[in-house]
Amino acid sequence: MSQNVNSAEMSAVTEKMALHNHEQVVFSQDNAAGLKSIIAIHNTTLGPAVGGTRMWLYSSEADALTDVLRLSRGMTYKSALAGLNIGGGKAVIIADSRNDKNEALMRSFGKFVDGLGGRYITAEDVGIGTRDMEYVKMETDHVVGLPDYMGGGGDPSPVTAYGVYMGMKASMKELSGSDSLAGKTILVQGVGHVGEYLVDYLVKENANVLITDIHEDRVKEVVSKYGVKSILPNEVYSTKMDIYSPCALGATVNAETLNQLTCSIICGAANNQLAAEEEDGKRLLEKGILYAPDYLVNAGGIINCYWEIIGYNRSASLSQAEEIYNTTRKIYALSKEQNIPTYLAANQLAEQRIAAIGNIKKRY
Ligand code: NAD
Repeated sequence: MSQNVNSAEMSAVTEKMALHNHEQVVFSQDNAAGLKSIIAIHNTTLGPAVGGTRMWLYSSEADALTDVLRLSRGMTYKSALAGLNIGGGKAVIIADSRNDKNEALMRSFGKFVDGLGGRYITAEDVGIGTRDMEYVKMETDHVVGLPDYMGGGGDPSPVTAYGVYMGMKASMKELSGSDSLAGKTILVQGVGHVGEYLVDYLVKENANVLITDIHEDRVKEVVSKYGVKSILPNEVYSTKMDIYSPCALGATVNAETLNQLTCSIICGAANNQLAAEEEDGKRLLEKGILYAPDYLVNAGGIINCYWEIIGYNRSASLSQAEEIYNTTRKIYALSKEQNIPTYLAANQLAEQRIAAIGNIKKRY
């Protein structure tokens, strides 16, 4: 924000907050450390707001605000649906993660988080790694996503991949009556942290796995390690497959790709897979493609963070990720019963849990 905030700028912020009922938005600026940051707390009905910090060189502060509001709301829904006792929050630091990051900046951000007294607990997101979180930890205890040697949960990707795998099996069960993926052609788009662990699960189940990635070295590595086949990134939507698993970027499910895709299930780790939720949700329903809502099946990362808050235990974290199977089944049942897109059924279940637990809390 500029130093002299006028009433029009202020009401633009509160209007944006009111749109999705955000509880609190806090701005911080520390010129000496080069910190310009926003923390948004969307909803704390279920517990303290938890969500990662994104470092990105936004073209304007208004863009940064829009992003942090959208992301923090998403965290409320993701954690509610995963059955966690935490709310939704997110932070953004307006900076270039390659050039602007340093100890003072990250520690200044840690102080900012600490000032919220635990209403917001931070973690990594785009542009932020575990080393940065170590600096944040020097100034606050309200941080998760720490490396193993600091008592943290380490890399959450294996847990995320397991959740996606569970969502995939539940989707196949819905479609065919059996949750076996053996012999099914499954395309994993993006074999990074999550994608590779997912490939491992699928190969062990004798699925016919295809992979693609924009980095040729990654493709070669995964092909030789798991004996899978690869296709080029631009061949994805025209390839015949049973399951499309987006594990790279968001917005790959849109009017154009849905015109080409021949799969019967979409289930992957990428966030915000539907380019236009309402329109694409409807298109999926009309085309008869079963869509496993992204924020449901990729909740393994936040589940891992949650276990770090309450006392880390990797096997408990994996067991909770396994529950994604049952939640996916519930969402498909609700979607069928009400003839609504699956993303909407997921939203409804999340909202129901927040309302129900909120009512119980009011009694104390
Ligand atoms: P990553 O950066 O390790 O892997 C992403 C991979 O996708 C990279 O190998 C990259 O080269 C590839 N890629 C990028 N653009 C591509 C394209 N157009 N076509 C094909 N490949 C492309 O990321 P990750 O940690 O594996 O996460 C994957 C996705 O899942 C991201 O969208 C992330 O936000 C989401 N997610 C991850 C976690 C987690 O625990 N890591 C949790 C929840 C959601």
